[in-house]
Amino acid sequence: MRQIIVIGSGPAGYTAALYAARADLNPLLIASSVEAGGELMNTTEVENFPGFPEGVVGPDLMDKMQRQAEKFGTDILFEDVTAVDLSGDVKTVTLGSGEQHQALAVVFATGSAYRKLGLADEDRLSGRGVSWCATCDGFFFRQRTIAVVGGGDSAMEEANFLTRFADKVYVIHRRDSLRASKIMQDRAFANDKIEFVWNAEVVSINGDDRVTGVTLADTLTGERRDLELQGLFIAIGNDPRVHLVHGQLDLTEDGTIAVAGRSSRTNLAGVFAAGDVVDPTYRQAVTAAASGTVAALDAEHYLTTLPKNLLESAAAAASSELASAA
Ligand code: NAP
Repeated sequence: MRQIIVIGSGPAGYTAALYAARADLNPLLIASSVEAGGELMNTTEVENFPGFPEGVVGPDLMDKMQRQAEKFGTDILFEDVTAVDLSGDVKTVTLGSGEQHQALAVVFATGSAYRKLGLADEDRLSGRGVSWCATCDGFFFRQRTIAVVGGGDSAMEEANFLTRFADKVYVIHRRDSLRASKIMQDRAFANDKIEFVWNAEVVSINGDDRVTGVTLADTLTGERRDLELQGLFIAIGNDPRVHLVHGQLDLTEDGTIAVAGRSSRTNLAGVFAAGDVVDPTYRQAVTAAASGTVAALDAEHYLTTLPKNLLESAAAAASSELASAA
C-alpha cells in the first residue's frame, strides 16, 4: 500500500507526483500504456510554458517533467487503469494487467480525450485520412489537400503545422469568427496555404477505403456542397476522461470532476483531482501543472489527518514493495 497514487502523466499528474515525492510520500504514478505524457506529446512547439523563452517541444517538456518527478522518488508504471474503488480509507486501483495497487490518497489527473464529430464514417476512416493528431499523421499528407475542423487554438496550431506538408489546408469552422487566441489567428490568416471555410459543418466524410472528400452544410442556409480532400484533421476540443469514476465521484454540468472551491478535493475523502479533468475553462499546461500542485498539497494535508497506524502500514508496505522490486 502507498500513501498516494497519481493517475495520469500530463503536466498535472507529473507535478502532483513531483510535489508528493518531495514531501517524501514516495508516490506511485500510473502513466498509461499508450498515452503517457498526455496531450503535450502530440504538440509541436510549446511557446507559453514559463521558463522556456526559446519554446520547447511538447514531448521534450514531458520528458523533463517525468525525470524531475522520478528524481525525487516517484515510481512510474506505464499501464492503464481499468477500475478504481475509492470508498473507505484504503483506495484500490486495478490495472489492465489485473494487478492491484492500494493507497490512502488518490489524485486523478486523467486529462481529456479528443472530441469526435459523431459522424457515421469517422471511426471507419480513422487512420485512412481521418486523424486527431497533426504531429502524428501530418507527414502522410505531403502535397495533398486536407482540412482541419475547428476554430480554437488546437485547430489553428494543427492547420499551421500541416502546411509544412500539405499543399492546401482548409479550416472548416461552424461560425464566422474564431475562438482561437489572437496570435494563433493571425498566424493562420497570414499563411497562404490556409483557406477558411466559414459557417460550415461537416455532415459526412466520404470515401470507401480512404477519405476522398467531405460534404459540408452551410450553418446559415443549410445548403450542401462537397469538398474534395485526402485528409481530415478533427480539432474540436476535448472531453474530460471520467469513465473510471462514474458512480463514485460527483461530476459538474461540464462533465468534469467536481471539486470543492479552489481545492482539488472531490466528494470522497482522500480522492483529489487536477488538470483538464477538473477544468472546462483554462486548460493550459501551466494551469494543469498548478492544479497538480494543489492536489499534492491537499493530499499531503489529508494524510496528516489519518490515524498513525494507517500511515505506518502504508509506509511499511511501500518500502517492502520497493525492497522486493530492487
Ligand atoms: P476549444 O478552445 O474548445 O475549441 C474547440 C473549437 O471546435 C471551437 O472553435 C468550437 O466551435 C469547435 N467545435 C466544438 N465542437 C464542435 C463540433 N461538434 N463541430 C464543429 N466544431 C466544433 O478547444 P481547443 O482548440 O482544443 O483548445 C482547448 C484549450 O487548449 C484552449 O484553452 C486553448 O487555448 C488551449 N490550447 C492552447 C494552445 C496554445 O496556446 N498554443 C494550443 C492548443 C490548445 P465554437 O467556437 O463555435 O464553439
